[in-house]
Amino acid sequence: MPAMSALAPAVFLDRDGTLIEDAGYLDDLKRIALYPATVDALRVLARGGFRLVVITNQSGIALGLFDEPFVTRTHEHMQAQLVAAGAAIDGYYYCPHHPSGRVADFTQVCTCRKPGAGLVQRAAADLQIDLSRSWMIGDRWSDVQVATTAGLAGGILVRTGSGRSAEAKPVDDVTPALIADDIMEAAAWLLRQGR
Ligand SMILES: [Mg+2]
Ligand SMILES: [Zn+2]
Repeated sequence: MPAMSALAPAVFLDRDGTLIEDAGYLDDLKRIALYPATVDALRVLARGGFRLVVITNQSGIALGLFDEPFVTRTHEHMQAQLVAAGAAIDGYYYCPHHPSGRVADFTQVCTCRKPGAGLVQRAAADLQIDLSRSWMIGDRWSDVQVATTAGLAGGILVRTGSGRSAEAKPVDDVTPALIADDIMEAAAWLLRQGR
């Protein structure tokens, strides 16, 4: 078998408004709420052979609303809930930056803030991911756009979170492969591709 076969496809997942309810700038672990469809969708995708990677902009760090350890704890908390339900995320990647933040260390123009491809590229190197067979799912056009900047197969907009208002305001040059009601509909569609 060729060496390339070691690379797996992935589904890159936005966090707030896609996997969990969008609580604004989430700053309290008690406000983490998985959508009802999230666990089943992740299980279906994992069974379909996709690595599952969270890609999230957390500019609240640059804005001084919470710190990096809080984001790490948030992801540990999410992962514990998922594992207890028989699902799991393979990697969590966040951008802590904002071009006009208040915390000097994180106030910068960066390449990892979505729609930049930096987080996807980091995950692809860490987790042996074939980007050309991978997808991005999110509730904002900046998520869908990652599919283009990172060279993925396509991007999916979900109508949870900000998705309905995004759908009402299409953006030039950003074309989703699918607009789905939620992550489960997106997952079911992805499994039908290539069959
Ligand atoms: Mg979102
Ligand atoms: Zn960044």
